[in-house]
Amino acid sequence: MALLRLFDQLISRSVDGHLARCLLCGSSDKIHFGICEPCQQDLPSLGHACQRCAIPLADATDRQCAGCLQQPPPQTSSHATWTYAYPVSQLIQRFKYRRDLAAGRTLAELSAEHLKHQPMGEQRPDVLVPVPMHWRKQLFERGYNQAQLIADILGKHWRIPVDARALRKITATGSQQKLKRTQRLKNLTRSFKAHPRVQGLHIGLVDDVITTGATQEAATQSLLDAGAARVSTFALARVP
Ligand SMILES: [Zn+2]
Ligand SMILES: [Zn+2]
Repeated sequence: MALLRLFDQLISRSVDGHLARCLLCGSSDKIHFGICEPCQQDLPSLGHACQRCAIPLADATDRQCAGCLQQPPPQTSSHATWTYAYPVSQLIQRFKYRRDLAAGRTLAELSAEHLKHQPMGEQRPDVLVPVPMHWRKQLFERGYNQAQLIADILGKHWRIPVDARALRKITATGSQQKLKRTQRLKNLTRSFKAHPRVQGLHIGLVDDVITTGATQEAATQSLLDAGAARVSTFALARVP
């Protein structure tokens, strides 16, 4: 939780500068979690999506996408709040690459409220685990792991403990575009190492964005290989 405290300090410093103004339009009217009500309503909600991988589904009677029916991914369920589209995509980029922690905090808090009913509806995860970054990348490029900041906020809202050390990224994965899907997944899974203390637990795996789903699948596989009972993934946004 030390990281969350530091995060809080940074936020309050930046919030002092422009007291409770909407992150997107600058209005100071009806601000909730750093964003005004009209802007919040304009955010691209994910809507009906595949239970297993969170890809948006056109038919409201479908519970899973064709891909998951044909080849089920290792995670039991996936949840995201928005489609990765403007302005959520822009806010996530501000958070990820320009150290705009206020943008990250706003999205994580709105997401915690939105997804609140989902982890409670099914079985609640025992612990939240952020998708880790390789330490070199975290230290020299980014300065922090955005997935951990999100997990800390979700954990605080849902009263679920966060274990940021249960999963480590042991090798940096470069571009794998030329590899076949199965080989890519194998390499990715080997790049993670899960701690045996995940044994028997229902893990809530947290990330900022689900793009192809490959990272979350590999991280999930590594947790299951270490004995986790099941894995549900949570993200702010899903690339459609
Ligand atoms: Zn606004
Ligand atoms: Zn699916």
